Amino acid sequence: MLYKNIKKGALKMNDTICAISTALGVGAISIIRVSGIDAIKIVNKLFCGKNLEKCPTHTIHYGFIMDGKEKIDEVLVSVMRAPKTFTKEDIVEINCHGGIATTNKVLELLLINGCRQAEPGEFTKRAFLNGRINLMEAEAVMDLINGKTEEARRVAINNLSGAGTKMIKSLRDDLVNIISNIEVNIDYPEYHDIYEVTVNDLKNKIDVFKSQLEMIIREYQNTKIIKEGIKTVIIGRPNVGKSSILNSLLNDNKAIVTDIPGTTRDIVEGAISFDGILLNIIDTAGIRETTDIVEKIGVLKSLEKIAEADLVLVILNNNEKLSDDDMMILDKTKNKTSIVVINKNDLESKIDTDILKNREVVYTNTVDSLGVQELKDKIREMFKLDEIKKSDYNYITNTRQLVKVKECLGRINDIKKSLNDEIPLDMVEIDLRDIWEILGEITGESYTEELLDELFSKFCVGK
Ligand code: GDP
Repeated sequence: MLYKNIKKGALKMNDTICAISTALGVGAISIIRVSGIDAIKIVNKLFCGKNLEKCPTHTIHYGFIMDGKEKIDEVLVSVMRAPKTFTKEDIVEINCHGGIATTNKVLELLLINGCRQAEPGEFTKRAFLNGRINLMEAEAVMDLINGKTEEARRVAINNLSGAGTKMIKSLRDDLVNIISNIEVNIDYPEYHDIYEVTVNDLKNKIDVFKSQLEMIIREYQNTKIIKEGIKTVIIGRPNVGKSSILNSLLNDNKAIVTDIPGTTRDIVEGAISFDGILLNIIDTAGIRETTDIVEKIGVLKSLEKIAEADLVLVILNNNEKLSDDDMMILDKTKNKTSIVVINKNDLESKIDTDILKNREVVYTNTVDSLGVQELKDKIREMFKLDEIKKSDYNYITNTRQLVKVKECLGRINDIKKSLNDEIPLDMVEIDLRDIWEILGEITGESYTEELLDELFSKFCVGK
């Protein structure tokens, strides 16, 4: 069920909330943030310095946080009055000395004096509920905090600046135009030529609209690579050189390399940065028919990993004929984005490569570190990493938003079919209005309480 505002949440909005906004630990400074109607009053009770209630907005003040007569810390306090603040409420930020004891003591005093501990993401949730940012922007705040690479940071700041919002708004405006065209037609049903014109015009507009949704989905796939990296699985029989390939890519000895088949029983993970794009690599237990229980679990896990991977590196031994296990692995990966790596290229070639005609193949020799650069280049080429980095990475950035855009695309395809089947236009109009509503859920113009709870609980406390 959709709510235009949150009733339960509205009650909690009256509380003044506080939280430590910096990471808890030893550091020069910690910031404790307080937001709400009594923020200034409560901090003022603890502050020895100027009277904060009389201070102008957006000013910073030197003084002490006191517990009765006892000095707790020497601090700088920022006073920011509503509405020009992150939450659109009064905000006070206390800059105290870093360190767990001091920070916790200041927080404790705030709680005793009438603040409530903020829930994860509650400051951002208030920013959303008070109309300071929309849902896409709130999600971008989270992405900005969690971003691990420079590219991920750029995507997040782009969306925080409203690129995605602008796109969704323009799509909704297009829909309003299309809907008004239909309404003109419905108002004058007696003019058959108007119907013709409207339907043809509608078909064209629907096509343009559809291609925009498709473009947003395409851009999303690129953005996902920028944010999360390429999930890469290394797979092959025992002893073909999987761990050696992983180590060559990672340039250290994270995976244990031995010549006893079946050594990599667990799944070893590592990550390298490819010009700012993460390649998350998983080295799996060697695949072969086995009766050993521990190894069997590892083999099953390896096969499962193929399904989840963005890229599979199938490692074969150049020095051996293709075995039944090799053939099984090749078969299981034939429809995946994959590269066949023929390793041990320094040894005599016994492998029959005819069967690999339709596959991407790279030869490596990890003893002399040959072919590893070619492998990296192939990955770069297959994922068009250079192009991705140059694109503007706009629009949607997470699965929640993607599901909504895909839902719209499905509805648009239904509409196209309806138009060909000459379904009455008022039926089409209902579908278009639904799409307009679904797009609004992306930016948060309509939302459910459950959605907000789920979304903001992923934030850290203090944001
Ligand atoms: P995994 O079981 O598939 O992970 O294989 P490992 O990476 O543990 O390697 C198995 C054995 O093959 C080790 O003794 C490696 O030193 C050796 N090896 C790995 N790559 C090469 C290579 O390119 N050439 C040769 N000659 N030996 C290699």
